[in-house]
Formats: sequence, structure tokens, C-alpha cells
Amino acid sequence: MENYTAAPDLLKAKTILVTGAGDGIGRTAALTYAQHGATVILLGRTVAKLEKVYDEIMTISAPEPIIHPLDLQNASDEDYRILGDNILEQCGQLDGLLHNAAILGPRTPIQFYPVDSWMQLMQVNVNAPFMMTRALLPALQAAPEASVIFTSSSVGRKGRAYWGAYSVSKFAVEGFMQVLSDELRQTSSIRVNSIDPGATRTAMRKAAYPAEDPYTLKGPEDLMPLYLYLMGSDSKSVTGQALTA
Ligand code: NDP
Repeated sequence: MENYTAAPDLLKAKTILVTGAGDGIGRTAALTYAQHGATVILLGRTVAKLEKVYDEIMTISAPEPIIHPLDLQNASDEDYRILGDNILEQCGQLDGLLHNAAILGPRTPIQFYPVDSWMQLMQVNVNAPFMMTRALLPALQAAPEASVIFTSSSVGRKGRAYWGAYSVSKFAVEGFMQVLSDELRQTSSIRVNSIDPGATRTAMRKAAYPAEDPYTLKGPEDLMPLYLYLMGSDSKSVTGQALTA
């Protein structure tokens, strides 16, 4: 997929929501989607970071983005309902949803894994994408061909010692992707896939591997061909796939 070249107007007139749009891979995906013509809904918990991405998008003569602050740790069903209603009201439809936000949690043996950390991580990495997807399905169904992308990890496809809740949460994300894809395949034109970005130079990677030289890693921009391919209509018939960047 490194060889995929997206048309400059691939996402023209599309509305795309990116979670965790203030930093790391989500920030780069938001900028890239805007560059290709999308109106991007920037969702995240740190408003200052979202505002910075908003400003950057405004300098590249892309459609004006929408900032939607939301802390996935505490967001309620009602918050997601409001988000869905706002999107339908302001945009009429949702063409793309990138579930990108996640937390890493401690890396520690299961025996010593703090129960509250486990619960918090599952809330952000698993329950929040479920609640959000559920609330946004009417807006996704209103689009002619919507794309939902989940963000997985290598430890969500093969378990690894000490990666605890993070690893288990990514398995759950893969499972959710498969269930949703299978469900929607028969009844709608919504496609659902997952991406394992692989080792990428971000704050999360730095926290997981503090001793690593970040410049030996690929940057978020190197992932964008796949992120564009799955979001644009070139992947129209692709669903239920677990892809690797
Ligand atoms: P970062 O930690 O750099 O960015 C994560 C983003 O998610 C941040 O914008 C963060 O907001 C946001 N976020 C975290 N918690 C919440 C919350 N409670 N509510 C709203 N937003 C939240 O991570 P990456 O960019 O590295 O990771 C992006 C995705 O890729 C994740 O799903 C990760 O698991 C996955 N991944 C990353 C790999 C890598 O090597 N980088 C490898 C494999 C998978 P804030 O900035 O405010 O903290």
C-alpha cells in the first residue's frame, strides 16, 4: 500500500471524524484528510492541541474543520447522542470515522495489573469506540458509502507478555471490527476495517520504548497512503479486513 497514490480530491465533500486528532497518528490523519478535501471533525480531550490542528488546517486552504472536545474516559451515552445529532444537523451525514484515540496503560504482569487501570483502559480503547459507533450509525448510514476504521496493534493480533489491558483491548477492537463489518455487509454500504500502524514515532511509542531512538522509526506521515486508501472510495468493496501499515 506504500505505492498507493491518492487523488488530490479523494475526500472532497466528505465529512470525516478522527478521534485523538490532537496528536500523533490522529493529528497527521486529520491534516491529511483535510488536505484531500474532507471536512474533518477533530475530536479529542485536549482543546489546545485540537485548536493547533485547526489552525494548521486553516493554513492549507482545506475545508474549515470542526472541533469537538470529548474525553473518552468520561463520555456518557448522552454525549455520544449529542455528537451524532450535531453531525446530522451540521453535516447531514458522516462519510468516515477513524477510531484512533487510545491509551497504553501499564506494562506489567497480569498478577500485578491494577484493576482500576484495566477498567480505565477498556473504557477508552473499547467501550468508547462501541458507544461512539452505535451513536454515529444513523449519520454513517446517511452517507452513500461510509468507511469506519479501527486502530489495532500487533499485540491485538498476537498476545504479548506484560502488555495486559492494551493487548486485550486491541483484540477486542479486532473482534468488534469483524462483528460490525459482518453485520453491515448485508444491510448497508458501510465498510469496516482495522489498521495496525506498526512501530511509529509518537508520544505513545516513546512511552512504551523510552530507550529507542525515535529516528529509527517511521513517522505518522509514512502511514498515510493506507489511511487514505481505506477512507476513500478506492477501497469501496473492502470490508472486514485487518490491514497492516
Ligand atoms: P498518541 O498517544 O501519540 O496519541 C493518542 C491520541 O489519543 C492523543 O491525541 C490523545 O489525546 C488521544 N486520547 C487519549 N486518551 C483520550 C481520551 N480519554 N479522550 C480523547 N482522546 C484521547 O498515540 P499514537 O498516535 O501513537 O497512537 C494512535 C493509535 O495507534 C492508537 O490507537 C495506538 O494504540 C495505535 N498504535 C500506535 C503505534 C505506535 O507505534 N505509535 C503502534 C500500534 C498501534 P491527548 O493528546 O490529549 O493526550
